[in-house]
Amino acid sequence: MNVECRIWNVGGTQHTTFNILHSSWYSSSMEERTIFHKILDREIPASIVYEDDEVLAFKDIHPKATTHLLFVPKHFVASIADVTPETAHIPGMLILKAQKFAQEQGIRGYKLTFHVGKGGGQEVFYLHLHFLSEELLISS
Ligand code: 5GP
Repeated sequence: MNVECRIWNVGGTQHTTFNILHSSWYSSSMEERTIFHKILDREIPASIVYEDDEVLAFKDIHPKATTHLLFVPKHFVASIADVTPETAHIPGMLILKAQKFAQEQGIRGYKLTFHVGKGGGQEVFYLHLHFLSEELLISS
């Protein structure tokens, strides 16, 4: 992310220009917070099934399978389309968390999906992994 910022003085005739290169700073301070930011910050409720230092997993509000979960990283990336070499570990980390969660729950068959961009069906621009299964969670 490279964003040009201009700061104008009170008279409006001079300005300072600088570039922001750090995507996480940009996202946390300037970009609109998504519904998943608000779930992560406990500003809106969700049916949470798993949490650790890196990820939060909760039930999708409009399930498309018997079990439909969303695995959301705590480090913000908007979409698979925005993954860089610095954040390329995040999709793999989500897959490993989903795999471990499935093993712990005794779920043997499931689908994992990333929707990428509006054309790929992505509605919430906070990277997340869909976990869908026709098997039930132990606790549900
Ligand atoms: P996407 O289409 O962006 O890959 O998926 C976003 C998912 O988030 C959708 O399946 C949608 O049902 C789910 N979702 C949207 N808003 C909420 C919400 O407020 N709470 C929960 N738990 N899921 C949501």
